[in-house]
Amino acid sequence: MNKPLVVITGASSGFGAEIAKLFNAAGNPLLLLGRRVEKIKALPLDFTNIMVEKADVTNHDEFQIAINKAVEKFGPVDLLVNNAGVMLLGNVRYQDPKEWQTMLDTNVMGVLNGTQIVLNSMVERHSGTIINMSSLAGKKTFVNHAAYVASKFGVHGLSETIREEVSDQNVRISLVAPGAAETELLTHVTDQSALTDYQSWKESMGGITLDPKHVAETVKFIYDMPQEVNIREIDIAATRQDS
Ligand code: NDP
Repeated sequence: MNKPLVVITGASSGFGAEIAKLFNAAGNPLLLLGRRVEKIKALPLDFTNIMVEKADVTNHDEFQIAINKAVEKFGPVDLLVNNAGVMLLGNVRYQDPKEWQTMLDTNVMGVLNGTQIVLNSMVERHSGTIINMSSLAGKKTFVNHAAYVASKFGVHGLSETIREEVSDQNVRISLVAPGAAETELLTHVTDQSALTDYQSWKESMGGITLDPKHVAETVKFIYDMPQEVNIREIDIAATRQDS
């Protein structure tokens, strides 16, 4: 039997790329989204059943057009992984408000956009799963993370709200809340002092943070449960992470 369509946002690096590898190996048709499509196309994947589309998750129309295209080819979306996100560390006293806007737009509006685009069809079909990539910063605070924390608390809040709204339609809303991991996330930070503090914190854990492949395995584990079982949230961090 043909496997159903899985959509992954932010597939060009980090967690998204690892999630793509696992679902590709499992034989699901994939729609892989990101702005840097050349990076997605360079991933070690079997592209036979993969559609790669350039889409900014903050742009509802672009996001919708990409999903419509994949649905036409592969059928309805069975899993959406709202993974795309940005973390621009900084102290609110000095940080450029544009960076707050970027985080709120990407991390919150992006997740809402993706959710709205796929949710009605899932409700009509009484089946489907959305897994949102939040963070431990979605449930506790971290210095120099104010706007990021605000965005990820938002992801926790909207996920649980929507879960309550659609649970009686047999649709699953779940989230993964990872701790610090080695991805491209820090490469966009402009505040050098916040970045240095973060790196020293990571070194205080022996420099060992989470391997992104374990976050991907977590997403797969949540999805592979039967549709009537919803793992609502998994927190995952390096054992040595103290906070
Ligand atoms: P990366 O920077 O490696 O990946 C982020 C991905 O998001 C990229 O593929 C990027 O693609 C995509 N992205 C960013 N902005 C947009 C946008 N506007 N439209 C579409 N895609 C976008 O970081 P991670 O893999 O670490 O991040 C993935 C998620 O995990 C994020 O939500 C992050 O907050 C969360 N997270 C990360 C942790 C960590 O320590 N790494 C810990 C906890 C949570 P492109 O630039 O090509 O568009």
